[in-house]
Amino acid sequence: MPEEYLKYLQSLNERQREAACTDISTPLMIVAGPGSGKTSTMVGRVLMLLNEGISPLNILAMTFTTAAASEMRERIGAIAGKATAKELSISTFHSFSLKLCRSHGQKLGRTSEFLIYGQGQQRNAIIEAIRLFENERSRRKDDALLIGELSNSLKNPKHFKDKAKKWQKFVTQAKASGRTPAEYREMGNSIGADILDNYNNILKSCDALDYHDLISGSLKLLTDFPEVFKECQDSWKAIVIDEFQDTSTMQYKLLRTLASHHKITIVGDDDQSIYSFNGADITGFISFRNDFPNYKEIRLNKNYRSTRCIVEAASSLIQHNATRCQLKNVLTDNSSGSKIVMKECHNEDAQCAFVVDKILEISSNRSEANCCYGNIAILYRRQISGKAFQMAFRDRKIPFNIHGVAFYRKKVVRTIIAMLRTALPGCDDGSYNRVFKALLPLEKDGKKRIIDHINKISTIRKCSFLSTASDIFSAKISGTFKRSELTHGRKVLTTLEMISKFVQREKSISAIITSVTNMIPEKYLLEKRAVIDVDGGTYLNEDYDIRSVRQYLLDDVSQFLSTKFVEVNGEREISEDKGCIFVLKAFIDYLFERERENFRAWRKENENSVTLTTIHQAKGLEWDVVFIVKANDSEIPLLHDFKGAVKDTAALVEEERRLLYVAMTRARQKLFILYVMMDSNWQVLQPSRFLKEIPRHLVEVQGEINLQDLQMKQEALQKETAPCTDLLIKEQQSGVDVAPMPLPNDLHDNHSSEGSNELADFEEANNGSNFLRRFCV
Ligand code: ATP
Ligand code: MG
Repeated sequence: MPEEYLKYLQSLNERQREAACTDISTPLMIVAGPGSGKTSTMVGRVLMLLNEGISPLNILAMTFTTAAASEMRERIGAIAGKATAKELSISTFHSFSLKLCRSHGQKLGRTSEFLIYGQGQQRNAIIEAIRLFENERSRRKDDALLIGELSNSLKNPKHFKDKAKKWQKFVTQAKASGRTPAEYREMGNSIGADILDNYNNILKSCDALDYHDLISGSLKLLTDFPEVFKECQDSWKAIVIDEFQDTSTMQYKLLRTLASHHKITIVGDDDQSIYSFNGADITGFISFRNDFPNYKEIRLNKNYRSTRCIVEAASSLIQHNATRCQLKNVLTDNSSGSKIVMKECHNEDAQCAFVVDKILEISSNRSEANCCYGNIAILYRRQISGKAFQMAFRDRKIPFNIHGVAFYRKKVVRTIIAMLRTALPGCDDGSYNRVFKALLPLEKDGKKRIIDHINKISTIRKCSFLSTASDIFSAKISGTFKRSELTHGRKVLTTLEMISKFVQREKSISAIITSVTNMIPEKYLLEKRAVIDVDGGTYLNEDYDIRSVRQYLLDDVSQFLSTKFVEVNGEREISEDKGCIFVLKAFIDYLFERERENFRAWRKENENSVTLTTIHQAKGLEWDVVFIVKANDSEIPLLHDFKGAVKDTAALVEEERRLLYVAMTRARQKLFILYVMMDSNWQVLQPSRFLKEIPRHLVEVQGEINLQDLQMKQEALQKETAPCTDLLIKEQQSGVDVAPMPLPNDLHDNHSSEGSNELADFEEANNGSNFLRRFCV
């Protein structure tokens, strides 16, 4: 065995080494808690496979994020050499499936150039599927009521948007579990079956697949086409999978089929399963035991990452989950470290100020946690909670990085991508909608009227947005538009034609992106504070600096070209001579991968900056200092859907507890947990119910709220907002569950006995808003 391999294996502990060195023909399952070296052991396993003579070209390593994939390649490269690492296939389920589906597109009823529909396009296709369904239903039944509903729906885009959210969830679950329309029909859910059917047909007619189709498509290829199965058997002689707990039923089926040779290693932790909304299903561990009966299971129980205090606190928390597949007894030899700091803040501003002060204090005192900015992270449940930190960090000159997703969610970036898409065959109506919204030089209401009209006519005519728009603006169909509006519309069509010609003619996608960004009107860029939907919330956009947006995109182009032009079994995956449409399509595919998951590679570029990220995206990562912010009951657990309906099921509460568990276990040395007492509307919020489950002796309560300040603010607010109280009373009368505004006295720690009944009422109503006080007694 090469000396480097030996050295690495020797650095592992006994159980990790036993796992890595298990006979390669034995299916292996490594189950362990966070920070116990699962990923490190998986690297050792790959080294063993190489040492046993399996060619790197025949090893398939699956990870959950593209960035985790590149980190693993780097780690293996450092030991086995870059050339070997380059030959390994380390990918996510989606990029693996994408490649397979592209190679055999025809077998799936698509071209090899099919489009991938991300969330936005999927939503549009679902809206279309609902429209078709309602159209068909009203036609079939000739029901005046339904026709009325339909025409109301057409007038009211919000109706479709709300419905679409609901159905998008349904379609996601259906696809993750592999259920077909026929199965839903059999189960008596004919509406679900029709919508799913319509949706599938729309995607087929647009030569598109969504993310779930990539997985089910790959499975279909493997099961229905023996030649594809053989090709995969010849290619992948051994398979290793990290973060197994987050694989969906369909992904597991794909793995099982690929690993019919039984040279498979899975690595995971059921307590860290946090993607059930995406179809993740931890029963995969049980299926693995059944499907690979000669498997060997190894448990790692030593945490190398965190202090004893953090390990104990997290273990106590997770023990409150009743449904755990495997109980783990996690130990650590690390020092006990300092207690977890828990802090109650008046509101998000106070929370932000506390975090900023702490970061400045910690980073100026290098001895504490040996900490530079790059070793600090702020974790939150929803993207929106990161916004205040971005602004505060900017003001205080603290370098920070936010997850790459935020960039690709910027409205202007989505517009640029939509403009690029219009040059590709089969572009979806949603992209045209977005482009017209950006390019029509009119006020918001004017644009909306025109775009709504085009959508309405195209539904009636059953043809695409683009052809309807061309007919309207060239006055082939009479409309109610002013002459100037027709001229504006024609200009947008000319711009689209220019983009299309440019893409056909041009050789470099960098040049295309530069031109497209130049076409965005200044007026659109100045539309500040646009509201976009992020993780179910609203998000205020920043001003757009188009030059930095362009530069960011161009950097991504060069990264894309450098990674995708080499690769794959020594062959060039993408070559320039394939033409710009092909390369552009591949680049858009790549952006989707990035939008979904890229983090770690990007994080490396920002080594000395504080990381701002959602908890979901922090999976598998670690920092010396972690701040979990807004640990409120409305966030963790987040038990409301987008309409505010409560979804308080036991299973959901347990998943949310796992989320807090993942967050806490990202910290190496110091953990802060903060919650706020009220939101920006002065609505009282409650601390997360999970905080009570962290043993008291492991917690230090820091700082006191400034009661006087709070009292003054509330008195001022009560004077200003008397009507709000009316609204509150109305909402309470109508049965909406609204926590009452706290009375200033109620918040006094040492208030006199005359207020005590009020306090009791207040505490009961708020179920622990004064939680810290009680917690500390
Ligand atoms: P997670 O569940 O969060 O993904 P994990 O189980 O994959 O965690 P790793 O990321 O592999 O854990 O390791 C956690 C930390 O512990 C890393 O910093 C790693 O370098 C270190 N580590 C792992 N094994 C050992 C070991 N045997 N000796 C010393 N350090 C180790
Ligand atoms: Mg890991």
